[in-house]
Amino acid sequence: MRNWETLDADVVLLMDRHFTPGRGGRGVERVVMHHNAAVLTVEQVHRVWQDRPASAHYQVESGGRIGQLVWDDDTAWHAADPDVNQTSIGIEVSNSAGAEQDWPISDTAIEEAAHLAAAVCAHFDLGRPAAGTTIRWHSEFAATTCPYHLAPGGRYHETFMDRAGHWFDEMTGAAG
Ligand SMILES: [Zn+2]
Repeated sequence: MRNWETLDADVVLLMDRHFTPGRGGRGVERVVMHHNAAVLTVEQVHRVWQDRPASAHYQVESGGRIGQLVWDDDTAWHAADPDVNQTSIGIEVSNSAGAEQDWPISDTAIEEAAHLAAAVCAHFDLGRPAAGTTIRWHSEFAATTCPYHLAPGGRYHETFMDRAGHWFDEMTGAAG
């Protein structure tokens, strides 16, 4: 990110379809996490969503670069639930290898995604990142395994939540 406080991404590559302008008068109440179930750059996920009626606000690459594809003030189509979409920020995280490797995610991507989730919580005054309230999982709202190892019980879940809490405390001065 260029700026964590203002949520200024490394690259802005906006969707021209497959999102809804505005939030229908609603506000941001939560973050919904996803994994790509693919190894994708910002440019590649943008291309995938040209054909697939889907989008998210942010894409975190394996190397840590973060792209913004839908502005935070607009509704991205990521949770398969219009109400959840209107009230959430969708964060997609690239995998670093495929199904045969059981969909790993790089340490860098986990760290940057946790930092981003914390920054969204700080920016929108959602409170400290908490699994099940401020931080939600795609699989809560749709018949999907997404975000798999980031979700409760997954290999990266505890690290992700620990680091999100760490970054939130850093950003809000609550550390110590
Ligand atoms: Zn998902």
